[in-house]
Amino acid sequence: MSTYDLIIVGGGPGGLTAGIYAMRAALKTILIEKGIAGGQVAMSDSVENYPGIETTTGFDLSQRFLKHAQSYGLEMVQDEVISVEPGLEFHTVRLANGTVLQGYAVVLGMGGSPRKLGIAGEKEYYGRGVSYCAVCDGFFFRDKTVVVVGGGDTATEEALYLAKLAKKVYLVHRRDAFRASMILQQRVKGECKIEILWNSVVTAIRADQQGVSGVELQDTKTEERRQLATDGVFIFIGFEPNNELVPAGIKKNADGYVMTDDKCETSIPGIYVIGDLREKYAKQIVIAAADGCTAALAAAHYVETKKATLEVCELPAELAATSAS
Ligand code: NAP
Repeated sequence: MSTYDLIIVGGGPGGLTAGIYAMRAALKTILIEKGIAGGQVAMSDSVENYPGIETTTGFDLSQRFLKHAQSYGLEMVQDEVISVEPGLEFHTVRLANGTVLQGYAVVLGMGGSPRKLGIAGEKEYYGRGVSYCAVCDGFFFRDKTVVVVGGGDTATEEALYLAKLAKKVYLVHRRDAFRASMILQQRVKGECKIEILWNSVVTAIRADQQGVSGVELQDTKTEERRQLATDGVFIFIGFEPNNELVPAGIKKNADGYVMTDDKCETSIPGIYVIGDLREKYAKQIVIAAADGCTAALAAAHYVETKKATLEVCELPAELAATSAS
């Protein structure tokens, strides 16, 4: 069993930033990521709000985080974590390949996954016209018609990306006002290829031999139903926290986000949660990175104190023999 000062689960902006700060604090650190560095950010077509970098792609920004962390010699493993078990001295992290790690401190940054609509056809036609990633699948819809569902930053940003490729983009939103930032709202409204369908929900997805062929829409005010022909359906209705690995004793809110203090520490000492998995006001790359910094600095202090406490508790052999007699 290998022992680390800090084990980081998740290689998104938060996890990689935690890695940078942990290495600078001379913590023996390992980061485990099952997918690609950057996580969901790596899938983003454009990032325009990371301070100091006016415009870049999510992939480029992720690679910069990765390179920066690697420049400090951060040990990284590509594998799936199957459990995180809290302990008094060490916390234990088990990997799918059978490796068992123990760490004085653990940082969890598993982020979130796209929320599902839960309608007929969504699961069945996933990969055959239903998608949760415009950058990954947009290419297949060049000069075609697509439906984008949602009214937040992600839906509007992805609708704009798809408008560069597709012939027509229907942006279906359940209300008459967007949740997205004003700049994205303005861009969407000014893009002639995008038609906004207000007060509308997709109630079913239909397909033929070629894949998705249309959706059923319902007006949320009049309850009127209609069919709309489309080649693809992109769903961006928010995220659900990837909290499966969060140990049972850790406090979560009603939506499943982990509650932490201002050090990103959970209700179990030495276990920190960062980024989109943590309950907070806004989910932004810069905030995930800031969480990673906070958690690593707090973990460095925790590890130092923990080691000092354990050393005090370990009585020298001769004293231990005396106290036993
Ligand atoms: P979000 O802000 O939670 O928005 C989800 C959207 O989907 C809302 O408009 C919501 O409608 C709609 N929705 C939710 N459930 C639905 C359902 N069952 N049927 C139909 N519509 C449904 O999620 P997000 O856009 O993925 O953004 C997540 C976070 O990441 C946000 O904090 C966002 O600011 C951030 N983000 C930032 C950027 C950026 O800064 N460039 C880019 C992407 C994401 P209602 O409005 O009616 O609730």
